[in-house]
Amino acid sequence: MERAENADDLAGSAPHADLLERGMWRRRVLACVLAAGLHGAMPAAAAADTRSGFAWPQGARAAVSLAYDDALDSQLDHALPALDKLGLKGSFYLPLSNPAVARRMEGWRAAARAGHELGNHSLFHQCARSKPGRDWVEPHRDLDAMSVAQMGDQVLLANTMLAAIDGRQERTFTLPCGDTQAGGRDYLPAVRAAFVAIKVIGGSGVIDAMHTLDPLAVPVATPSGSSGAELIAIVKQAVQRGTMVNFTFHGIGGDYLSVSAQAHAELLRFLADNRQLVWTDTFINIMQHVRQQQARPPAAP
Ligand SMILES: [Zn+2]
Repeated sequence: MERAENADDLAGSAPHADLLERGMWRRRVLACVLAAGLHGAMPAAAAADTRSGFAWPQGARAAVSLAYDDALDSQLDHALPALDKLGLKGSFYLPLSNPAVARRMEGWRAAARAGHELGNHSLFHQCARSKPGRDWVEPHRDLDAMSVAQMGDQVLLANTMLAAIDGRQERTFTLPCGDTQAGGRDYLPAVRAAFVAIKVIGGSGVIDAMHTLDPLAVPVATPSGSSGAELIAIVKQAVQRGTMVNFTFHGIGGDYLSVSAQAHAELLRFLADNRQLVWTDTFINIMQHVRQQQARPPAAP
């Protein structure tokens, strides 16, 4: 039976693995907001990551990556028009077997033509069935039952298929469910060389320091049910640190693990109104810049 992990299948039925993150995420956001006390004005003197000489383009104080996983209809219907309306660029991570990829192929192609990123989210969204709450993982898509070589082959093939969609050769990858083990062994060594950057799930999504960030293990936040104010507060933390924040959304105004269209619009409005302060771009563009900056010789003491 064909039952891909798409919105129709998951809405109100099998729980997505990332649902486990939801409660944790909301507590984390609230804790961060309360601790930082950032409800008020923007910090006057942002402490950029200057010790390392790291700099963002055009004097920006922080970077923001807006990413959308799982190729969901609500992303094409709500997120993309909201981004385009304000001239902001996002990254869309496609599990290529999702029927919504084939069904709305022209929509994804148009997004790429408009400057958005299409990222690798594997062929079949394989996750480890042995983890708690993973009953929804179909046995033939169980990462526990695969070898490193099999998963490695499939992830690399996904890059080829994405190139057939958008013509691009450089790519970033978001791990399905954040799982790294295929058949009990780390599969990332089999695919690392094929990517500019790789995202892993964890943390608030605000990077501690840019000069020590591993481009092949970039932490992301997966907001769900967050308000616009909560999302903006996280951006302000990145501004305060002089680093970056990585948001990985799922549904926008629909589907699952959703953020409302209003909260999403409030975040985008804030980013559009603060372009000089915050560089919002695709994850691949940001990470290419990060790699260039990290390759620079250290600043003189
Ligand atoms: Zn996913």
